[in-house]
Amino acid sequence: MNRVLLSLTIPLLAFMATGCVTLNCPLPAHLKEHIIQEKISSSSDIPDVKRNSWNMGDLCADRLSFYDHGQKWELTLVRNTKHPAGPFWYLPHDNEDSAFEAAVYAAQKYGGGFLAVEAGGKRYASGTDPNRNFKNGSVYTRNIFAILDTFKVPSMPYLALHSNKNGHEKYGGEGTVSMKISSAHTHSCPAGALGQGGLNDEDNLVYLAGRKIDSRKIGALNTQGVNVKYEVVNGKRNDFSMSNYIALHRNRTGYVNIEAEDGDVRTQKKMIDKVMKLVYQGVL
Ligand SMILES: [Zn+2]
Repeated sequence: MNRVLLSLTIPLLAFMATGCVTLNCPLPAHLKEHIIQEKISSSSDIPDVKRNSWNMGDLCADRLSFYDHGQKWELTLVRNTKHPAGPFWYLPHDNEDSAFEAAVYAAQKYGGGFLAVEAGGKRYASGTDPNRNFKNGSVYTRNIFAILDTFKVPSMPYLALHSNKNGHEKYGGEGTVSMKISSAHTHSCPAGALGQGGLNDEDNLVYLAGRKIDSRKIGALNTQGVNVKYEVVNGKRNDFSMSNYIALHRNRTGYVNIEAEDGDVRTQKKMIDKVMKLVYQGVL
């Protein structure tokens, strides 16, 4: 009988330890001046939340929206309600499911939360790349940064999570981001010899950006075994990505983007832990 009881209670305890997501938490009043909070009737309404809901026990999800020149932007805001002060991440690409799972891990472990663009599971939202849309002074830029600055701890850098396809098109792979590619403006600084999978994989890396190269940050990440790509940003080459916007207009705050190969959530979590260690040490 004890055995039966045990087999019934263990799964229940495991369920309680992780727990499901909460929905529709109040937004700070100042955000509601420009941003609409839409009611989520069930976690099944948002595929990313539905997939991860079982592991979102301390987290609350909200659906936000706003219009920029007639284009409706839909966003999922996730916050750790027990530990609201923590890292806050931006996830611009809705097709990058690994990044969403890694963000759930980060928000559960370190508090804070994240903002994810919803685009029906696609990279582009109504034909626009959400990470090539940071024009200075636009409604999109103003609203996204209003949300990030509301929840971000001021001493922490702007943080982003992405995932990318295996390899690089130039060498027969499928992706467009790789440690094997280096240019005059985007330097590849591997932690060691590149290999297959784990921290050494060409697709697993931290992307930094600034007006000039920052050897201290690169060195600190490399010492942790993390590959770094560093983009030196210049106004004449602005690609309207978040990294470029921050380097050009918010240069005093750092930018850290953790990129992992699609599906390699394990390594992305490992990189989150290493980045957070350096954030808490004040290095990043
Ligand atoms: Zn991306």
